[in-house]
Amino acid sequence: MPNFSLPDSVFEQAAARFATPFHLYDEAGLRRNARDLKKAFSWCSDFQEYFAVKALPNPAILRILKEEGCGVDCSSETELMLAECCGFSGRDVMFSANAMPYEEFDHARAVGAYINLDDITHIDILEQHGGIPETVCCRYNPGGDFRIGTEIMGNPGDAKYGFTYAQLQEGLRILKAKGAKRFGLHSFLSSNNTDDGYYPALAKILFAVGRDLAAETGLTLDFINLSGGVGIPYLPDAHKTDIFAVGEGVRQAYEAVFPEGGVAIKTELGRWMTGPIGWLVTHAIHHKDTYKHYIGVDACAANLMRPAMYGAYHHITVCGKADQPCDHLYDVTGCLCENNDKFAIDRMLPEIAEGDLLVIHDTGAHGHAMGYNYNGRLRSAEVLHREDGSFRLIRRAETPKDYFATLDIDEGAGALGLN
Ligand SMILES: *Cc1c(COP(=O)(O)O)cnc(C)c1O
Repeated sequence: MPNFSLPDSVFEQAAARFATPFHLYDEAGLRRNARDLKKAFSWCSDFQEYFAVKALPNPAILRILKEEGCGVDCSSETELMLAECCGFSGRDVMFSANAMPYEEFDHARAVGAYINLDDITHIDILEQHGGIPETVCCRYNPGGDFRIGTEIMGNPGDAKYGFTYAQLQEGLRILKAKGAKRFGLHSFLSSNNTDDGYYPALAKILFAVGRDLAAETGLTLDFINLSGGVGIPYLPDAHKTDIFAVGEGVRQAYEAVFPEGGVAIKTELGRWMTGPIGWLVTHAIHHKDTYKHYIGVDACAANLMRPAMYGAYHHITVCGKADQPCDHLYDVTGCLCENNDKFAIDRMLPEIAEGDLLVIHDTGAHGHAMGYNYNGRLRSAEVLHREDGSFRLIRRAETPKDYFATLDIDEGAGALGLN
């Protein structure tokens, strides 16, 4: 079930103050999630969440998470810069590598971040770009299918991330020869997984592999990084991950492999942390009846790409119409010249009039962050609903001046009024 923790009046008040569309985030809900996660893993004496910055890269959000004791997981130079400007440094930063410019390793090392290597070739690159640290993390890819019971939960063999087991054996030996003393192990095997057994199953694999690699290489296993992937219920009938059951499942796996403790646990949740505490607020501005019934809204895929990109479901409610029957079949569309710019297809909703305020749920992760400027459309504002009920603009909407900022339009700027 999507998150209905805010009444319609909050969205109406926000829309009275800020032009639609905008994403609204709920501070109280965000803090609640951070605290629940911490509590679910409180059995582990050394647990920390490294929020995946890419899910919601806004300093106001990162600062709240910092107050809640979280670190950050970054994967680019600008994400590192965001983390730095919010006061994160050293062991509160994880830098998860991918096929990235090598200089970004220098930056991550200068910040003192944990380096999470994606590939055996990254070892030489890291040595030349910042040096090999005493503690280094590696991403593991077990290949094949990832199953819980008989159900396939992911296809690591098709994923671009991580070392094979043989590469980990060789890579860790090389890292040791180059001065590393401790290692962490990371793996991301399934995305948006609401099965309470996902993290425990992943943990079981990583704990055993980490223990074996430590014994084989003589390096100390410092931490297991369970990465992201814990899912949220986008669909009305979807299961809501029980984070306490997840924590308990991981505890059981941990105690079976590490009865003496001593190995830290890290997570890098993005979606679970902020997805449900964000909503895209938009007005219905158009209706059209042809072979289907369409409602046009003032948001488009440039503000929320997931439906267009993945066919993702996002629940939609109409402010003030919660009690009306959902007896109208609509496609809810944006304004891009792109037929997949639809927030909903064949969705039963209450009758919608122009001017109605629509709330698109679960947009707090990989929502605004995936925004783009196709068709010259501008990215929206982001608004924080604070714990005291007030609103704070935490990112203004883009203006045409932002769109033109990277273009060389010379004297044409005057004609456009952009000077
Ligand atoms: C994207 C990503 C995450 C977060 O994933 P969610 O599905 O949002 O939890 C965590 N770690 C890494 C390395 C990632 O790339």
